Amino acid sequence: MKGMIKKCSVCGEYTLREYKCPYCGGALRNPHPARFSPDDKYSKYRLALSLSTRKEK
Ligand SMILES: [Zn+2]
Repeated sequence: MKGMIKKCSVCGEYTLREYKCPYCGGALRNPHPARFSPDDKYSKYRLALSLSTRKEK
C-alpha cells in the first residue's frame, strides 16, 4: 500500500518515503508492525548496523 508512514530506525523521524530516511539516510521501518517476529528482515539489518557503528579499536 502506498502512502504509509514509516519511521526511521536510526533517528526516529517519521516520513512518507519508502526506502530511505530523508533526514539521515537511515533504514525505514513500519512504526506499527502487525506482529513481532524474532527473525524479521529488519533484525538482521539492525544487527549489521550496530556492528558497523561499533568502534573496532
Ligand atoms: Zn533518519
